[in-house]
Amino acid sequence: VRSGRCCSRWVSTLHDGRLAGEYTELEGWGRRPRSGAWIRRPRTVEDVIVDASPRGVLARGLGRSYGDAALNAGGTVIDMTGVAGIRAFDPMTGAVTVAAGTSLGELIRAVLPFGWFPPVTPGTSQVTVGGAVASDIHGKNHHVDGSISRHVTSLTLLRGDGDVSVAGPEHHADVFWATAGGMGLTGVILDATIQLLPVESSLVRVRTERTGDLDDLMARLEAGDREYRYSVAWVDLLGRGASLGRGVVMGGNHATLDDLPADRRRTPLVYPRRRHVTVPDALPDGLLRVPLVRLFNEFWYRKAPRAATGLATVPGFFFPLDAVDRWNRLYGRRGFVQHQFVVPAGAEEVLRRTVERFATVRCPVHLVTMKRFGPASGGHLSFPLRGWTLAVDIPVGFGLLPRLLDEIDDRVADAGGRVYLTKDARMRRSTFTAMYPKATEWCEIRNKVDPSGRFRSDLGARLGLVD
Ligand SMILES: Cc1cc2nc3c(=O)[nH]c(=O)nc-3n(C[C@H](O)[C@H](O)[C@H](O)COP(=O)(O)OP(=O)(O)OC[C@H]3O[C@@H](n4cnc5c(N)ncnc54)[C@H](O)[C@@H]3O)c2cc1C
Repeated sequence: VRSGRCCSRWVSTLHDGRLAGEYTELEGWGRRPRSGAWIRRPRTVEDVIVDASPRGVLARGLGRSYGDAALNAGGTVIDMTGVAGIRAFDPMTGAVTVAAGTSLGELIRAVLPFGWFPPVTPGTSQVTVGGAVASDIHGKNHHVDGSISRHVTSLTLLRGDGDVSVAGPEHHADVFWATAGGMGLTGVILDATIQLLPVESSLVRVRTERTGDLDDLMARLEAGDREYRYSVAWVDLLGRGASLGRGVVMGGNHATLDDLPADRRRTPLVYPRRRHVTVPDALPDGLLRVPLVRLFNEFWYRKAPRAATGLATVPGFFFPLDAVDRWNRLYGRRGFVQHQFVVPAGAEEVLRRTVERFATVRCPVHLVTMKRFGPASGGHLSFPLRGWTLAVDIPVGFGLLPRLLDEIDDRVADAGGRVYLTKDARMRRSTFTAMYPKATEWCEIRNKVDPSGRFRSDLGARLGLVD
């Protein structure tokens, strides 16, 4: 595997012991759609096998994509979480090679004591390195550091033609850019080498500011670009009139030793374990209605300081939702849709109209984040581009949902923006084609690395990326 394009490992029989799997119904983090697949659980890289299953094969990480990106109805799904661990780490340079099934939480626990931190983290530590690269994830620092592919120096890919490629921005660059953001459809990522970020402490110095309306919120986010490596805003989409688009803006930087209180300076890199509560799988559908969510939004807004600076822990700042295991169950079995889009700088009007539209239709949404993005990566299907992004969690069952989201998609596409594939479960094929013009080039590379079309996902089939 380590020696590059040398190792043919697909087999065509389902009688091989390593191919034994169980048929299981799978879902994404949004809990729908669901589809059944044969699951394999390899424990080592050698056990990862791509065969000629009639309904195709797909790698899956921790299932934190929201829609149908990690589903493969009637086919095979390779659960990569057993293929985990740090393969190599140089504490002097911060270069780390990680097996694809390792979670970002495990990676942080391993490298933070040495003064290193992942260069990009999403809103949860419960994603695998393979899933992070396949979605080319962004963090609160995209305006400074770009997406994860900017920091991956090389990855090992088991391709559909049975070969193993070691690809990076400097070698087999076409395969690399088709795979970073390629949603698992070019092959199975076996490992990735990532350049970590040096930090002096495990704390973050955070500035929190409450904002009165949308203009105020956007102005403060923009002003924070120069001052903060990390920034994000929570938006109250039930605010109306003078409070339309009010919210809370947070900006943060890794705390230096000088930022720490005297008693923390001796142990600046400690990373304590957090207690979790778990949401039971017995909550009814439709729990989150407008009056309850409005009350909660009011509480959330008032609880934030008008303006304050303080120190936060890594989980508290980067992964606040991880404190509640399986919080997606709050939406009941019907689940929810996360809609995240980006519009280029200059198309702020689309953002404004979307916020107004949500407020007018009285949609019961609490989890709403707005961020600013820097330049796009080279990934053909990568999501971020320089501009503004808004992510909204909407309960399934809200009557206007399909029409509302199609309407927003059209405006976003007209403005040159796009919807994030790893969150999507419903975008129309024509919208996708308009939003991702580099998909044609991606298909050519994909046909090269997977000529018989072994890799397949429900998302890929829905959007016409695979048959
Ligand atoms: C609470 C929460 C907050 C989030 N915040 C952010 C955020 O701020 N920014 C952001 O960018 N994303 C965010 N996400 C989305 C998440 O980062 C991505 O969906 C990520 O891909 C999930 O990783 P996973 O291991 O769970 O992958 P899965 O959901 O299991 O799979 C996602 C995709 O990756 C592919 N894949 C997985 N493993 C491999 C592999 N080894 N080889 C090839 N392909 C593979 C799958 O086929 C699938 O297409 C968030 C998700 C949640 C639940």
